[in-house]
Amino acid sequence: MTKLEYLLMYQKADLKKQQLENAVRTTESRQKLNKITKLLREQQTTIQKLTEDADAQKTVLAKLLAQQEGLSHELELNHSEMETLEADDQVTAEELTEFRQDVERLNRELSRLEKDVKTLLEQLENTSAEFQKARSLGGRAKKEYDRLKAVCEVEKNESAADITAATKEMETVERQVDPTFLAKYKRARVHHSMPVVPVVNEKCSGCNMSLPMAVIKKLISQETVLECENCGRVLYYQK
Ligand SMILES: [Zn+2]
Repeated sequence: MTKLEYLLMYQKADLKKQQLENAVRTTESRQKLNKITKLLREQQTTIQKLTEDADAQKTVLAKLLAQQEGLSHELELNHSEMETLEADDQVTAEELTEFRQDVERLNRELSRLEKDVKTLLEQLENTSAEFQKARSLGGRAKKEYDRLKAVCEVEKNESAADITAATKEMETVERQVDPTFLAKYKRARVHHSMPVVPVVNEKCSGCNMSLPMAVIKKLISQETVLECENCGRVLYYQK
């Protein structure tokens, strides 16, 4: 066997191994698992955001309730003061009117606050409902995730023996490949799953770049391989 034939045999073993590895990475269950992993992450983000929303709403609510309590207290004081004033002969009608206006203003503020509190409570209830929904969806997705994960694990174990055999085969062939050829192969393999390609119509069949005559002549006369200057693949001349 020639050096080139060993190199091609090595690539064949490598491709077989890659195919086995790709197959286990792209099974239906694996694709579903990838999808659901993404979904779970999105749901976690949603839950996180809803939790933050609820916390912010609770903070505002506490502030509003404190204001409400303060106003109620103030109004109570004003009521008793009003009774005192009304009983007092010295108080003018003007003073009484002013005082009543104050009380009315306080009442208006209080009812505005009550409205705000009500709105906020509704918002908080919505947030909480959304949170529950996201949590229950997340729980279901997690169950499906666990199930798929187990299926993928079985698939992986089933193909493990084949992959090990392919790896061994590759290693056996590797020992027979010329070290210079092998080094070129490994360099190109970093970027290409199929690093060795033939010259077709005086072009690199990997990237389609036209090759200089000198390169082609060298490939033919020296029965060697050369790296494509454009894509880095290992070129050989097919007789
Ligand atoms: Zn090329």
